[in-house]
Amino acid sequence: MTAPRILVVEGGVPCRGTVRTPGEKSISHRAVLFGALAEGTSVVYGLSDGADVAASVAAVVAMGVEVERRDDGGLVLHGGRSLLHQPSGPLECANSGTSMRLLAGLVAGFEWQTELTGDASLSARPMDRVAEPLERMGAIVRGQGADCRPPLVVQGGRLRGIEWTTKVASAQVKSAILLAGLTADGPTVVREAVTTRAHTEEMLGEAGADLTVEPWGDGRVVTIRPSSLRPVTPRTVPGDPSASAFFVVAGCVVPGSAVEVQGVYQGPARLGYVTVLQRMGARVVLTPEPGGTVTIGATNLGPDAPLRAITVAAAEIPSLDEIPALAVAAAVAEGTTVFSDVGELRIKEVDRLAAVADMVRAFGASATVEGDTLSITGVGRSGHAGRLRPARFESQGDHRMAMAAAIAALAADPDADHHHRSLISGFSAVETSYPAFADDLARLAGTEPPAPRPLIIAIDGPAGAGKSTVSRAVAARLGLDRLDTGAMYRSVAALALSRRIAPDDQAAVAALADDAELEVGRRVLINGIDVTDVIRSPAVGVAVSVVAANPEVRAHLVRRQRAWAAAHGGGVVEGRDIGSVVFPKAEVKVYLTATMEERARRRQDESPDGVARRDRIDSTRAASPLARAPDAHLLDTTGRTVQDVVEEVLSWL
Ligand code: C5P
Repeated sequence: MTAPRILVVEGGVPCRGTVRTPGEKSISHRAVLFGALAEGTSVVYGLSDGADVAASVAAVVAMGVEVERRDDGGLVLHGGRSLLHQPSGPLECANSGTSMRLLAGLVAGFEWQTELTGDASLSARPMDRVAEPLERMGAIVRGQGADCRPPLVVQGGRLRGIEWTTKVASAQVKSAILLAGLTADGPTVVREAVTTRAHTEEMLGEAGADLTVEPWGDGRVVTIRPSSLRPVTPRTVPGDPSASAFFVVAGCVVPGSAVEVQGVYQGPARLGYVTVLQRMGARVVLTPEPGGTVTIGATNLGPDAPLRAITVAAAEIPSLDEIPALAVAAAVAEGTTVFSDVGELRIKEVDRLAAVADMVRAFGASATVEGDTLSITGVGRSGHAGRLRPARFESQGDHRMAMAAAIAALAADPDADHHHRSLISGFSAVETSYPAFADDLARLAGTEPPAPRPLIIAIDGPAGAGKSTVSRAVAARLGLDRLDTGAMYRSVAALALSRRIAPDDQAAVAALADDAELEVGRRVLINGIDVTDVIRSPAVGVAVSVVAANPEVRAHLVRRQRAWAAAHGGGVVEGRDIGSVVFPKAEVKVYLTATMEERARRRQDESPDGVARRDRIDSTRAASPLARAPDAHLLDTTGRTVQDVVEEVLSWL
C-alpha cells in the first residue's frame, strides 16, 4: 500500500478503538546501527517504517550487514564489526540528518573511505559539528563550504580518545562521537552543558559498552572506553509519541470518539502535549504498561463540554512537533488559544507557522501570527453549530501538516457546505514518518468506504468520447497518476494474436491475462515487450472487444486495476466499467460521450464501422458491459474544448 496522493475525508465519523504508532524514530535509527555493530544476530520489532530509518537500514546493508524481514514484522540484522566492509558507493541518507551524523561517527572507526550523501534539504545542513570532533580523533572529514555540508567524505582509521564539550545541544553530535569512541585508543569523554536525548548512551550501555554517565552542571558527562557490542534481542521499539498526538487529538475532537494509543514511548518531555490537552479540559488518561511504555486514552466529551482555550508555552512541547495536532484542538476550542515562542516552526520542513494558521482558517476557525506568537480562535459553541467545516488543504510536502489536516477533516461537520468532503492533497508526504497513517485512521473510523480514503476519479465512456485526453489532463492538474485500462485489454489481445491464440479461445486467453507481466504507463509493456504502438493496430482493435467480453479476463484485469490504485495511492482511471464495477465507490465518476460523427472523426486510426462495432460489442456483452453508473456525471464532449471539459470534471470534486 502506498499512502494516498490526495486523501478524501468524510467528516463527523467517530474514531473508536486502539492503535499503535510506528517505532520512535531516534530509537529505531540506533537499533539498526548498533545492531549492525553487535556481534551476532539482532531482531528488532516495531521499527519506524518511514523513509528516514529506511536510509539507515540501506546504509548498513551497503556495508555488508545481512538484513531480513520476518513474517511477524521483525527485522533481523546479522551484524558484527568484522563483517562490515567498505560500501561500493555513497551511503545515501536522503532527508535523514540522524542517519548522516551517526553514520559519520560509525564509519570513522573503520580504515576505509566512505561518502555520505543526502537530498537537497539535508545537503544544506551543517556537518562541521560532527566533523570537528571526529577529525580531532584522527579521522579526515571533508564536506562543502565552511560549515562542512554534505556530501561528506570520511576517511576513517585508528582513532584516539578525546575530551569534547559539545558546542550545540545535539544528541546526534554526542552519538557520533560515542560511536567513534567504541574503537578509539583510551577513553572518549563527551560533555554536554544541556542534557539531550539519552538513547545512545542508554542503548550502548544495554549492548555491553563500557560506559559511564555522570551529572555535570545542568548537563552530563558521558565517558566511553573501547568496547565491542552484543545484540540486544529481541528488541521492541516503543511507539512514536509525536505520531500519537494525531490520534489522541482525534479522540478529543471528533464527536463520539474514544481512542487508545498503545505502546507509546514516554521519554522526558515527549508527552508534554498530553498535559496541554488536559489543561484544555480534554479527557486524556495515561496508563503505564509493563516495559515502561504507556497507553494514552482520549475520549470526546460531547458538545456540552467543549475544550477551552489556554496559553501554551513552547517549553511545554520542546520539539514543537505536536503543534499542528494541538492547533486542531485549539480550532474546536472555545476562545483564543495562544502558542507563544513558536517562531522555530518557521524553519521546519516548511514554514509550519504559516501552514498551521492556513490550515486552521481553511477549516473554519481563525488564526493570527504576530512575531513568534500563534493565536487560534476556535469555533467553540459558536461556529457552524460549534463545528469545523470541510475544506481543501495542501500539505506542501509536510507530513505533520498532512496528518493534522486529516484530523481536522474528520472533526468537520458532515452537514456543512452541502455535504462536502475534505480533500487533502500532497498527502503522501506522510511517507517520511508514517506511511500507514491513513490506513490506521480508517481502521479507527471503521466505515465502508473508509472515512479517509485515497481519491479515485473514474472516467468511462465509448470509444472516441475523449477519455484519454481528459483523464490525462485531469491527472496532471491534480498530480495523480492515470491508468488506461483499455491498454490492458489491448495488451492481452496483442499477446494472444502474437501467440496465434484465437481471441475467442476463452481459457487460453484468460491464462494469458492471469500470468502476463503487465506494465501500463507512458509506455505499455507485456512480458517485457514494448507494445505501445502494436496495441493501436487495426488487428488489435478488432480482437480487443472479443477478449474484453471474456469474464475471466475481466476478473484478472480488474484485480490488477485495484492493485494499481493501491500501489499508486489512488489516481485517475479510464475505461468502460471503472465507475460501475472496478471502483464503484470512486469519489468522482464521469461518463463521457460525444456524437457518433464526432467520435468517428476523433478515432482516425479506426474506421467508423469499426468504432460502431466495438461499441456494440462492449455495450451488449454479458460481463460488465459499457454502461453509465447511476451516480456518474454525464458529459457530452461534442464541440467542447479539453480545458472546458477538464474544468467541469474538477468542479465535481
Ligand atoms: O479504451 P480503449 O478504446 O483503448 O479500449 C479498448 C477496448 O478494451 C474497448 O473497446 C473494450 O472492449 C475494452 N475495455 C473494456 N473495459 C475497460 C476498458 C477497455 O472492456 N475498462
